[in-house]
Amino acid sequence: MAHCSISTIKSCFASQLLTSTTTTTSTQSKVAFRPVATAKLNSSSSAATTPISLIRNEPVFAAPAPIIHPLLKEDMGKDSYEEAIAALGKLLSENGELGPVAAARIDEITAELKTVDGSVSSSESIERLKTGFIHFKKEKYEQNPALYGELAKGQSPKFMVFACSDSRVCPSHVLDFQPGEAFVVRNIANMVPAYDKTKYSGVGAAIEYGVLHLKVQEIVVIGHSACGGIKGLMSFPFDGTTSTDFIEDWVKICLPAKAKINAQHAETPFGDKCVLCEKEAVNVSLGNLLSYPFVREGLVNKTLALKGGYYDFIKGSFELWGLEFGLSPSLSVKDVATILHWKLL
Ligand SMILES: [Zn+2]
Repeated sequence: MAHCSISTIKSCFASQLLTSTTTTTSTQSKVAFRPVATAKLNSSSSAATTPISLIRNEPVFAAPAPIIHPLLKEDMGKDSYEEAIAALGKLLSENGELGPVAAARIDEITAELKTVDGSVSSSESIERLKTGFIHFKKEKYEQNPALYGELAKGQSPKFMVFACSDSRVCPSHVLDFQPGEAFVVRNIANMVPAYDKTKYSGVGAAIEYGVLHLKVQEIVVIGHSACGGIKGLMSFPFDGTTSTDFIEDWVKICLPAKAKINAQHAETPFGDKCVLCEKEAVNVSLGNLLSYPFVREGLVNKTLALKGGYYDFIKGSFELWGLEFGLSPSLSVKDVATILHWKLL
């Protein structure tokens, strides 16, 4: 980082992250994870001189990595599949941190997959990915050389967005974000946990990177209609019994929203309560964002704003609201002072 000037520190940081990841993986094992899809996007650039990028100067859909390679062969046979599983097992066993639990899980998955006719991928799905990328490249990438030229140098998104993993609510589609506009985190029910360095470091790292390094101006948490994660939150008993490996523990981040809706709308039918909770959970996440010191600092300095959103794909509507938090100079949250609400459509 020391060689980076202030003006280039963001891109240096990103490059170092990628360099570090690549180096670590390749030295631990000969089996290296590589991008599934690589493409020759810019014939004038050289892989040797271009900064590290996920887009490589290689032929379309040629992926040399042992694990990935069999998935891209349309005539993939059982042998290559077993080689891939063996390579994956080897990679995991060579990584001390993953250990026996991961190895056992691999065995389990392998056994399950073998019951499905020995095949793990179809040429149809590969073709879909290929035609999708070709469409993007022809219709967007090659049509916007100025935009993609700028993005090749770095990113400076205005928005950081939390959205649900639900396949119907992609924020780039719903809000027409162009590449470079939004730094997006998607997870079950678009939840933001409170600051916790041990349990939720994945979310924390994204917020830290978005706020401190990309310097986003807005963090928008977007809920949506018919959210399975919120339905789960409203349905799970949370009585000590569990029926899922991860989901219950994750969605209980927004238990305060469930408690509030149940208390204030006790007689409301379950489906309507879920809708209310889909919105209230967004507010819980906005509140949790205040537990991150760099978010609070951004709010106090007015370099950052928080907004809640709700996309209803049944009605085709989108609501947006801003919460103006009363923050004292000592960075403690005093009160939710104002709610600004815009019904966009
Ligand atoms: Zn959802």
